[in-house]
Amino acid sequence: MKLNPTLDTIEGEQSFYYITRAREVSERRGIHVISFGVGQPDFDTPSHIKEAAKEALDSGFTGYTEAAGVIELRKAIAEYLNQTYGANVSEKNVLVTTGGKTSIFLAIAAVAYPGSEVIIPEPSFYAYSQAAKLFGAEPVFVPLKWSSDRGFELDVNMVIERITEKTSAIVINSPNNPTGAVFEKHDVKRLFEEASSRDVAVISDEVYDQLVYDGEFFSITSIDGWTENGILVHSFSKTFSMTGWRLGYVVAQDKVIEKLTSLAVTVYSCAPSFVQKAGIAALKGSWEPVMEMIKEFNERRKLMFKLLREIPGFEVAMPKGAFYMFPRVKKVLEMLNMDVVTFVNTLLEEKGVLVLPGTSFPDKAGREFVRLSYSVSRDSIIEGIGRIKEFIKEKM
Ligand code: PLP
Repeated sequence: MKLNPTLDTIEGEQSFYYITRAREVSERRGIHVISFGVGQPDFDTPSHIKEAAKEALDSGFTGYTEAAGVIELRKAIAEYLNQTYGANVSEKNVLVTTGGKTSIFLAIAAVAYPGSEVIIPEPSFYAYSQAAKLFGAEPVFVPLKWSSDRGFELDVNMVIERITEKTSAIVINSPNNPTGAVFEKHDVKRLFEEASSRDVAVISDEVYDQLVYDGEFFSITSIDGWTENGILVHSFSKTFSMTGWRLGYVVAQDKVIEKLTSLAVTVYSCAPSFVQKAGIAALKGSWEPVMEMIKEFNERRKLMFKLLREIPGFEVAMPKGAFYMFPRVKKVLEMLNMDVVTFVNTLLEEKGVLVLPGTSFPDKAGREFVRLSYSVSRDSIIEGIGRIKEFIKEKM
């Protein structure tokens, strides 16, 4: 077979790779692996959402739907964005997808083409750069700025400086994976204005919009006339603990949605029908379980922060959103004479604790960092961080 050579440039998601490694270590060594690697809530999907899917199945709602998604769901999504952020959109601006990743793929497909450049502040969720490459565009990474007290922040000037004639889009992700940063309103607004004045699209991945504990999240959909130049990537996965259901959406101007719907129907016809019904229940039903989950995440965030700061050589700023901590471990790596991947692999092998190397989040800004997800129980946080401390002490 003559395979598409571009496939050789596409990398998979490291956190999925490490799930397999963690299972292997657990089986081989007979130890309970504590995983801070997962990027998904450890809560069950709220029961009223499951009920809606069951009802849809039982009533025979099992066929294709409209390619862009059932109208009731698209309306519910538009209503959510209008009520929460004043997005001023209708169902014509909404395309239902099979999860946030599909939304990313489609949003990038809308703007990336051979010879174009897509600017990605890094460390970043890996999928943006992979999708850009697939469509022949070049990912251009711009580091977020880091300080030990404030953590990661968007450096708008640096991003703007990297815009060239070839730049077709800038991708932003707030609350941010992997850093937990929530970008400042004035930074997002300025970036959007500067990009718009140069005809550069802004793709905003807001899949963690509800997971904000300190400060205020600013959505690009709050900006007047944002659809002129913005594309929103969103998902049900994180907010409603629905990672396995595969449901997300793209929101953009209607002409873009029409084109992307033609692409979407070619790839997946429509999102699963009964899952779409569950999505309606998620948005329109009780948000009580979501609020409970967020409250618990906040407690775990404070606990993990306190414990990580007690580890000599770990530098950690309090992240404001998502469910990740991204401590700088430069001093530890120097003390142990390891690079970050060796550190992660040895820690997993010897102590049964999984953290992800910062290098899983392209491009290179994460090489002195590790990512820990606090979507595990408080007991696991205490036990796992205890083991990390022990590991470092033993290796010194
Ligand atoms: N965007 C970001 C920033 C993410 O962290 C993730 C998942 O980890 C996704 C998108 C993908 O979400 P989904 O599971 O809905 O595909």
